[in-house]
Amino acid sequence: MIPFNKPYLTGAEQEYLSKAVALGKLSGNGHFTQLCQSFFEEQFDFGKCFLTTSCTDALEMAALLLDIQPGDEVIVPAFTFVSSANAFALRGAKIRFVESKADFPGLDEAKVEKLISEKTKAIVAVHYAGVPCDMDVLQQLSDKYNIILIEDAAQAVSSFYKGKALGSFGKLAAFSFHETKNVHCGEGGMLVVNDPQLIKRAEVIWEKGTDRAALFRGEIAKYGWKDLGSSFLLSELQAAFLFAQLENLAGIQSRRKAIWEDYSAWFSGKKDQIQVLPLSFLQLLEECMKGLGEVGFQTQPGNYHLFYMLFEYADLRQEYIQRLKEKGVLAVFHYQSLHKSEFIQNYQPEEFVRHLPNSDRFSDCLLRLPLFYQLPNLLVES
Ligand SMILES: *Cc1c(COP(=O)(O)O)cnc(C)c1O
Repeated sequence: MIPFNKPYLTGAEQEYLSKAVALGKLSGNGHFTQLCQSFFEEQFDFGKCFLTTSCTDALEMAALLLDIQPGDEVIVPAFTFVSSANAFALRGAKIRFVESKADFPGLDEAKVEKLISEKTKAIVAVHYAGVPCDMDVLQQLSDKYNIILIEDAAQAVSSFYKGKALGSFGKLAAFSFHETKNVHCGEGGMLVVNDPQLIKRAEVIWEKGTDRAALFRGEIAKYGWKDLGSSFLLSELQAAFLFAQLENLAGIQSRRKAIWEDYSAWFSGKKDQIQVLPLSFLQLLEECMKGLGEVGFQTQPGNYHLFYMLFEYADLRQEYIQRLKEKGVLAVFHYQSLHKSEFIQNYQPEEFVRHLPNSDRFSDCLLRLPLFYQLPNLLVES
């Protein structure tokens, strides 16, 4: 079976894990945590970076740091992962869901303004597939209405908007290093704090509400409980693993690019441009589409995080999934829009529950094809 995803190993993970063990500090904020954080701060011009146990945790840290509370509203796209909204609902905020664009699952910037009220505290810019939201438009809205801009850049490592890295725009930005993302450590994440005024408090929230990080730096003699917080640090073992991935980021990205471009070239009829995927595999994908109507494809590459197809309706997608499965290929759909989720229907008054046909369409009709580093090799072997 060709899986949908297979976590890539660069080969250096074992060595760095051994080194972390030998260094003897296995909890967080040690040697490898510093290396990873500095990598991002320097390579992508981010503010202060904090490795966390997940992107979900980074978003929860963001909600604490911004003092989100009951009565607040946060604007979040409907077509996204649960955590983009759940982190703020945990603090008691209500969620205003933004519709997807007609031709792309990401949020429609033109539909954000009418969701803004005097209760709106923040907007979460989710860069779906690592394709940038229009940050100019969102920044203008943020300035005009004094709303905090947060990036959910979980999928968006090494992706750029007008030459500037995603994750450097929002006051805060959250990344994921879950094994399904371009670079990973099994489970992991990072909060980027681009507003210098928030750094000190972020460090306390990160360290369970204490100023222990200042103690480690020798700035204070004893540490204590200063604020709300939680256990957000990534262990050094995972940071060591992650650093092996980061050192190979360029290679990982160029491999994913080649695979993405092959899908794109094949389905747009430029079949002479195929670089790494076997033609037999691409032919199989195409043959299985026979009789399933008109099928659309992702056109914006983003950071080559994923490649999707778009069917006319859900039954056709289901038929295609089934046909591929019979041929030994696993393709998977993506989010079920959050505005229709069981939780949100019970959590919020009716006025918040909106009709979002574009998001619904992507929930019903979008299908992701396998995209991971070793895919070409695996296909040749099988
Ligand atoms: C993967 C993902 C998350 C969650 O990441 P974890 O590290 O698994 O918590 C959040 N938001 C988006 C958009 C994601 O793709």
